[in-house]
Amino acid sequence: MTDSYDVVIVGGGPAGCRLAEGTARKGFSTLIIEEHPSIGSPVQCAGLVSPRTVRMVNPPGRVVLAEMVGADVFGPDISFTFQADDARGMVIDRRAFDRHMGERALKAGAELELHSSVMSIDKGSVTVGDRTVSASIIVGADGASSMVRRSMDVPGPKYLFPSVQYDMPDWKGPLDRVSIIVDQDIAPGFFGWAIPHGEGARIGSAVVPGSIAAGDSIALTVKKFRDVSYLGSEATTSIVSGTIPIGPLSRISSGNTLIVGDAAAQVKPVSGGGLYPALTAADIAVGSIEGVLSGDTVLREYDRAWKKRFHGELSFGMKAREAFISMDNANIDRLFRIFARDEVSAVISKHGDIDHPSRLSGPLVKTAPDIVGEVAKTYLGDALKSIRKKLSLGKKD
Ligand SMILES: Cc1cc2nc3c(=O)[nH]c(=O)nc-3n(C[C@H](O)[C@H](O)[C@H](O)COP(=O)(O)OP(=O)(O)OC[C@H]3O[C@@H](n4cnc5c(N)ncnc54)[C@H](O)[C@@H]3O)c2cc1C
Repeated sequence: MTDSYDVVIVGGGPAGCRLAEGTARKGFSTLIIEEHPSIGSPVQCAGLVSPRTVRMVNPPGRVVLAEMVGADVFGPDISFTFQADDARGMVIDRRAFDRHMGERALKAGAELELHSSVMSIDKGSVTVGDRTVSASIIVGADGASSMVRRSMDVPGPKYLFPSVQYDMPDWKGPLDRVSIIVDQDIAPGFFGWAIPHGEGARIGSAVVPGSIAAGDSIALTVKKFRDVSYLGSEATTSIVSGTIPIGPLSRISSGNTLIVGDAAAQVKPVSGGGLYPALTAADIAVGSIEGVLSGDTVLREYDRAWKKRFHGELSFGMKAREAFISMDNANIDRLFRIFARDEVSAVISKHGDIDHPSRLSGPLVKTAPDIVGEVAKTYLGDALKSIRKKLSLGKKD
């Protein structure tokens, strides 16, 4: 192990390993520094990804535990199911998935230093314990509370949704569909989920910051799944908690440093899924790093290329998430009454794509134009609330 590399990556999660594989393949000396003693632990993930994400990584067959063809969605009063003809989601063993990505990076020639925490970064170097490693490019792939992002002085994402997830063996619900609870009393501003994986289900929920405690939300989520007889006993084999960063950042590079994955809040605002955007961003970053190291371009090219590829999808997702945060349960049920119509759930089944929810919006509005009015009421409700607040602030006693 030397003390000087073309690329030093802080964090050996999926974003870091993918990027390391890419730069090592291009012949750049690459080091991943990971604070945990192994890649892939601890797991903070429900493990639901699109088939395209699995294809990007091409893991051994045992990594995919189940295939999902649709979803059962439970609103406050109205529920509906949609079911496609083909798999739209793959449930993965996240630990094995990450390990496979680590192995790919090592095979491509990257080096890995485990059990080492990066304490600080300077323009051209990182400090690990009492050692300094210099780098032409420093990458922060160090997750939602990224130290590298803070050192770049980039403000964090608008939302950090706290979440808790249990692995529960006594799942009695569908085995080829995910189950989702959309109810502002159970998981305010987000949703509760159950992802079956063949030996039970991962049951979790996330909440908008400042609403209820994530621990209360998961208890209500479990209760709801028991009430609808999808869950038998409350036996739990593991518990994980984590935060989901949502909201695009103003910058994702600075000088010779860039951030990728959760560190850069590259997460889909509708689903909270971060694996597909993290891997896509890592591939984009590899191209930009190659440009910088061969003297053709500057690292800001990464910001531009990322925005060009994902900005439309993320800003659509952000509008949808913020509209949802403003909705009350009556609003949700009115919307779900529309989604439950046969012709509408057929459109969802046909066009639904967990990586690109915006692609559904055109066909959906064409089939059910009344959706627009329902969503507009949310914005109108918000505008009225803020006018009322301003008027009451202006009132004299
Ligand atoms: C409860 C929950 C469920 C989720 N479910 C899904 C899902 O079903 N599908 C999906 O696509 N996404 C899901 N996500 C999101 C997904 O897990 C993340 O988007 C993904 O892990 C991001 O990968 P990453 O490599 O950017 O960051 P991480 O996976 O967080 O990896 C960051 C790595 O950096 C290391 N690190 C941090 N600081 C340092 C340091 N100073 N020095 C050295 N190493 C450091 C950490 O140990 C870690 O290994 C979920 C998230 C949560 C919280």
